[in-house]
Amino acid sequence: MQTHRILIVGAGYSGAVAARELADHGFQVLVIDRREHIAGNAYDEGDAAGILVHRYGPHIFHTNSERVFRYLSRFTAWRAYEHRVLAHVAGKLLPIPINRTTINELYGLNLDEAGVAAYLESVRVPCEHPQTSEDVVLNSVGHDLCEKFFRGYTRKQWGLDLSELAAGVAARIPTRCNDDDRYFTDVYQAMPLEGYTQMFERMLDHPSIETRLGVDYFNATDLGDFDHTIFTGPIDAFFGYCLGRLPYRSLRFEHEHLAGVERYQPTGTINYPNDHAYTRITEFRHLTGQTHTGTSIVREFPQADGEPYYPIPRPQNQAHYKRYETLAAERPDVTFVGRLAEYRYYNMDQAVAAALTAARRLIERLRPGSQGEA
Ligand code: FAD
Ligand code: UDP
Repeated sequence: MQTHRILIVGAGYSGAVAARELADHGFQVLVIDRREHIAGNAYDEGDAAGILVHRYGPHIFHTNSERVFRYLSRFTAWRAYEHRVLAHVAGKLLPIPINRTTINELYGLNLDEAGVAAYLESVRVPCEHPQTSEDVVLNSVGHDLCEKFFRGYTRKQWGLDLSELAAGVAARIPTRCNDDDRYFTDVYQAMPLEGYTQMFERMLDHPSIETRLGVDYFNATDLGDFDHTIFTGPIDAFFGYCLGRLPYRSLRFEHEHLAGVERYQPTGTINYPNDHAYTRITEFRHLTGQTHTGTSIVREFPQADGEPYYPIPRPQNQAHYKRYETLAAERPDVTFVGRLAEYRYYNMDQAVAAALTAARRLIERLRPGSQGEA
């Protein structure tokens, strides 16, 4: 049987999962990444004080997909972790997503669940078919909570008003009438026991996978011949920006180690919707469960230029992306998958699911009927 050679550009979730799936089905895979490390934006490493930190901002794994959780469990054990976030609003630290505690503490009330539901009903601005993130927030919590918790944060994070962003962005944050203060309610919520990078090392540890780091696809000359390429970088870069640049939002991460401080803040993350140039501060010991002296934190400063971290979900950008997608459809020798290549605001589990689907489709195309072999 012919051994197909596949080139995969990017060693993040999309590239690594596709690589492993193809290798497990008898394909020969070369993974390249222009960074000097694997794991893409999920990369974690010891900082100067030896504390495991996420170089590209806090990554908390959560999913409702048993398939995704089972797949990743081949490469890591887990530490149960439920993320909690407080927002610094009106001089107080209040739960976000907004819940019963948020409403009672902010307004000095003592409402029960039904009381909170009635309160929100009285202030919300009903909107039957929310089109924008502003519609979503006003429809759930009304003007005052929108201004206090969402408008400023969103302006900082995206450089846009809530009304300029697709509904799906703010719809990531639910509203609750009970006391549940978890950021996510997924069935599976856990952190890889020894970190993300270790999980990726195991995923890529396969005799049919070669990984080369510090290699940019656009400058590489000696990679060899391949039957197919899987590209997980920005789709507009792949096509030489021939239809103009797709907007991505970037961040600057300011890491800091605080010697002698045991606990900097009460929860993993604190959001700052209305003050400071950063959106949030995360303290890693909450996420990873590490025990150590001193503590390490990261502040996230949104910016327009720099590494493309977030596609910006709004109708004109989606239309722009669709024009690139048309070009991609004319390239049967290349599969485009991932947050940057599909211009989709994927969480990690969604990136895994998309990569598994893309890899299995490719396997079926190149070697029909072989799916049961691995
Ligand atoms: P990436 O991780 O971006 O990987 C793409 C890789 O391709 C990169 O390593 C890049 O260097 C490489 N590449 C690009 N161009 C080239 C080229 N020309 N040549 C060679 N290599 C190239 N998700 C969650 O589920 N929970 C969270 O808590 C969470 N927090 C996040 C916080 C931040 C600040 C950010 C930015 C994202 C967060 N995410 C979170 C989303 C998560 O990072 C993504 O879903 C996931 O990393 C997407 O994987 P990917 O492989 O598609 O992309
Ligand atoms: N958001 C907000 N205030 C908050 C938290 C979130 O306005 O305190 C909005 C903001 O637009 C943000 C979006 O909801 O970009 C999604 O938040 P999430 O925490 O999911 O963002 P991510 O972790 O992907 O950066």
